[in-house]
Amino acid sequence: MQERSRPRIGVLGGTFDPPHFGHLAAALEVRHRLRLSVVLMVVANDPWQKSGLRPVTPAPARLEMVRAAVRDLSGIEASSVEIDRGGESYTVDTLTELASRHPGAELMLVIGSDIAGGLDTWKRPDELRELSTIVVVDRAGRSGGRPPQGWPALVVEAPALDISSCDIRARFADGRPVEALVPAAVADVVRSRGLYGCCR
Ligand code: ATP
Ligand code: MG
Repeated sequence: MQERSRPRIGVLGGTFDPPHFGHLAAALEVRHRLRLSVVLMVVANDPWQKSGLRPVTPAPARLEMVRAAVRDLSGIEASSVEIDRGGESYTVDTLTELASRHPGAELMLVIGSDIAGGLDTWKRPDELRELSTIVVVDRAGRSGGRPPQGWPALVVEAPALDISSCDIRARFADGRPVEALVPAAVADVVRSRGLYGCCR
C-alpha cells in the first residue's frame, strides 16, 4: 500500500466569540478521522457575514480565547493569519496564504453543516474550491446542511454537541452555567476581560 505523502492541514475558520466545546469536538474528530497533521482554528479579523448584525468582540480578545481553548490539545492550533492580514476576512485569501506557507500540503476546509449550503456566496468560490477539499461536520440540531451542487465534500460525523457561541454569550450575560460548554481557561479570559456583560 502506498503511503500518503502530502501532509493534510485542517482549516477551521470562525468568529469564535467565544470558542466552545462544539468547535473543539469538531476539530479533534476531523483531525483524527482524516489523519490531519494539524487543525488551525483561524480567528476571523472582521467576519463580514456577522459584523453588521451584532457587535463582535475585538479580534485580539477572540484570539486570546482560542489560544486558551487549545492550549492543552495536541494537533489543534490557534491561527492569527486573518488578524495579521487585517481588514475583512475572506477564506479564499486565507487559503491562498496558507498554500504559499505550506507548499505541497493538502488544505482541508472544515465547515459546520449549518453554513455549508452557503458556500456559493463566499468570495471567489471557484478559487476556494480549487484551493481546498471541503469537509462538512454535521452539527447537532442543524445537521443535513450540505454544500450546493458542484462542491464535492467529505462529511465527518462529530459528537453531536448542541452548543453555540450565541447561547454562551447570553449565558455569561445573565449568569447561567457555562462550565460544561466552554473550557475553564476560556471562561477565565471572558471574566478577566469582562466580555459579554458578565461582570458589569
Ligand atoms: P454563533 O452562535 O455566534 O454563530 P457559532 O457557535 O456558530 O457562533 P462560529 O464561530 O460561527 O460559532 O463557528 C465557526 C465554525 O464552527 C463554523 O463552521 C460552524 O458551523 C462550526 N461550529 C460551531 N459550533 C459547532 C458545533 N457545536 N458543532 C460542530 N461545528 C460547529
Ligand atoms: Mg455560527
